[in-house]
Amino acid sequence: MTAFPKPIRQERPKSPLRRTRMKAIGRRGREWDSARRAVRERLEAAGIRSCEFGFAQCTGAYQTSLAHAVKRRFVQREAESGTPEHIETVAIACGSCHQKLDEEMSHQMMCEQVMSAIARRA
Ligand SMILES: [Zn+2]
Repeated sequence: MTAFPKPIRQERPKSPLRRTRMKAIGRRGREWDSARRAVRERLEAAGIRSCEFGFAQCTGAYQTSLAHAVKRRFVQREAESGTPEHIETVAIACGSCHQKLDEEMSHQMMCEQVMSAIARRA
């Protein structure tokens, strides 16, 4: 194995804006929060609280988050409900499975995995 030198982390200059969370969050952040809340409530009502992927090393209900079918920059609130781009097209992933989806899979594979996790609920 080749050892790569660790990239040097550039310190960002501290701006006074960064101290206030409301300023930092913006419109997209608020949309995200409300969509997340709506989805969590819907899943909770359906009794879905733990990871829906179950890849190797799945940690189940530990450190769950919502995994989108597409990368964040492609998610649209305006997309048709049920399409991979829709903001509420998500499945619950534990920390381990979310990392696999994000870092080890192609976009297409990630999309297929999330869409089939959602399809398994029915
Ligand atoms: Zn998992």
